[in-house]
Amino acid sequence: MINVVQELTRILQAVSHADTAERQVQLIVSSIAQVMGVDVCSLFRPNDHGEMVLTASHGLARAAVGRAKLPRGAGLVGLVVQSKHPLNLPQADKHPSFHYMPETGEESFRSFCGVPLISGGRNIGVLVVQNRKQRRILESEEAFLVTLAAQLALLAVQIPVLEQSDLTASRRCTGIKGAPGIGIGKVRLSAIEQLSAIPDAPCEDSTSATQEWHRLLQTAKRDLAAEKELLGPTVVEGVGAIFDAHQTLLEDPTLVQGVENRIKAGNWLPGALREVIEKTSEMFLGLDDPYLRARHEDIVYLGNKLLAVWRGKSRKDTTLKGPLILVGAQVSVSEIASVPRKQLAGIVCFEGSALSHTAILANALGVPAVMGTGAIRALRDGEELIIDGTQGSVILHASDSVRAEFVNLLRGQRVIDAKLHMLKDEPAVTLDKVLVRLLANTGLLADIEPGLKNGAEGVGLYRTEIPFMIHDTFPTEDEQVLVYRQVLSAYAGKPVYMRTLDIGGDKPLPYLVFEEENPALGWRGIRFCLDNTSVLMTQVRAMLRADENLGNLHILLPMVSCTEELVAFWELLDNAFQQLIEEGVAVRVPPVGVMVEVPAAISMLSSWVRSTRIDFLSIGSNDLSQYLLAMDRNNARIAARYDHLHPAVLREIRRVIDLARKENLPLSLCGEMASDLAAVVLLVGMGIKTLSMSAAKLPRVKSLIRSLTFEEASQLATEVLQLDSASAIRQLIKTRLATRTEFTQFG
Ligand code: PEP
Ligand code: MG
Repeated sequence: MINVVQELTRILQAVSHADTAERQVQLIVSSIAQVMGVDVCSLFRPNDHGEMVLTASHGLARAAVGRAKLPRGAGLVGLVVQSKHPLNLPQADKHPSFHYMPETGEESFRSFCGVPLISGGRNIGVLVVQNRKQRRILESEEAFLVTLAAQLALLAVQIPVLEQSDLTASRRCTGIKGAPGIGIGKVRLSAIEQLSAIPDAPCEDSTSATQEWHRLLQTAKRDLAAEKELLGPTVVEGVGAIFDAHQTLLEDPTLVQGVENRIKAGNWLPGALREVIEKTSEMFLGLDDPYLRARHEDIVYLGNKLLAVWRGKSRKDTTLKGPLILVGAQVSVSEIASVPRKQLAGIVCFEGSALSHTAILANALGVPAVMGTGAIRALRDGEELIIDGTQGSVILHASDSVRAEFVNLLRGQRVIDAKLHMLKDEPAVTLDKVLVRLLANTGLLADIEPGLKNGAEGVGLYRTEIPFMIHDTFPTEDEQVLVYRQVLSAYAGKPVYMRTLDIGGDKPLPYLVFEEENPALGWRGIRFCLDNTSVLMTQVRAMLRADENLGNLHILLPMVSCTEELVAFWELLDNAFQQLIEEGVAVRVPPVGVMVEVPAAISMLSSWVRSTRIDFLSIGSNDLSQYLLAMDRNNARIAARYDHLHPAVLREIRRVIDLARKENLPLSLCGEMASDLAAVVLLVGMGIKTLSMSAAKLPRVKSLIRSLTFEEASQLATEVLQLDSASAIRQLIKTRLATRTEFTQFG
């Protein structure tokens, strides 16, 4: 009898050391064959034509892997796909559906058990075990296979189905649309390598390994210095300091001598490095001081970077020339900020969704991005990649004709951009003269310029957590004044809605690490700030000081759910105001508004208007959808289900619009919905007059609004509100706007 949990744990542990997903799958099939004592274990995966390709096998002819395939629906494997449940046959060769594949050498096998691999409701493969002897696979063994198939599905979904003929042809990996546009550039792999997966191994020559270690340190230092240098005058706030901190860590004796000692003790260099990095980061994690505790992130980052350099991915090999595409499991804010905007042709993240901060930043910068592709392990630093953010796909090893097609599309995109640019100074007004105000969402100083360039009439959402996230400690009051002042003065005379620190949930601070079971429902936004009043007081003082003699600051509060939070904030704001007046600073009390993103806020709005003060509202449709639908906005597995056009979301937005009108409160919407053209038609039709979005999306939204009448938008919104599914809503909008190039081409 197989101990399922024990064997599963053992297999998964062994698998975690394999360095490619393909090898992991091969290891799983071999381990299953061994544990179950069967002659064959194979994995079949469907290709684009629905044929089932043998993609890994223990026991069948090695040469058949990637070659042998069953026509759609054929054979016992086809039967498993169709029935969606296991098929267990003691004498498979007598079954009418048995399909003999000569290239696999399977003629001598009798018993067969196949279980389907399902991901996102669709079949992504069949796991098969076979035996020479005629014997029925036991029920407990079948259960073991089913359990493993569920794990294997999680892994297999990340691996493209490779056939021998594909190895040199173009390969397309599909992910989630992160930010639109086409990019062609050289891959720059994220420095985030997996040092934790490196095993121990004997060191054959400790003297030369120690010398190699010192050379490695020197190369890493040179790389860091070169990266910092390359930032030059375009350095984005705070990023330079991160490089300095990393240089210091590279000289720390705990690291330098620690690795030497582990090499002397007999471990090979990467194993010695892993040991020291793990021990040091654990030590930092155990500290009480949150600032020191957060250093563990830097240690892990550096460890992974050193591994990357050791593997030959030294930055000097991938000089920052020509267009670049950043690729990694996650691509950090500082990595994005460290590449000059003009060179950044795209971002590919194996994890995450359209609402990850990486995608939001990419949108803000107008850089195409594809998220949640699953690991694309075949990629090498410096090789060319094509990214299609509009379709959500990535193309590797493009053939000449595929490449030419994308070069054409890219040219077309530039023509459209030029056309849209001509609208820069025109108002976003419907054909029947209803004016909509379009503002920009920002967070990096780097995206102030795109907002202005695209005609933003102000900043509708300044995400202050972004400057906090790329710093290595909490920024001081003076540092914050400097950054906020740049934003407020760049938009002098136009409103700027600055949101107080909205960290927690999907927006962690690298220097404040805390674990939560349920971070989306945890210590975040205003809740965090009101428990850390000195952080909030410093920030509010910085905002008020930055606004001196400008007067365009508006303060926006995130994640508000109850009256006490508003009362406490007003008390703090009054206090900050008094302090600054006493210090002789000519400050004013700015308008204060609330993000409508926790559903409770909707029912509370009228009470808040009566019991405390609110000057305006802004709907945060990203979180509002997340909480109304109870769907994690960053979870790639449910990204296809998460849709802000869900009727429940639209009906609640309608309710907010009615309440805002009744209470006479100015209302805007600043989530990603404001740049989804299908949603824009409805929002305008429902009566929203201010939309705030990534600067890069602004021209497209403007051109669409200018092509509509308010009357038709309003009529469409009324019809849509009667429908009961997001897909029906999208379909109706698509049908109605099918002839509008502003919708079909610019979307
Ligand atoms: C939102 O939740 O819609 C929003 C605008 O804020 P963020 O995406 O930063 O949470
Ligand atoms: Mg939010």
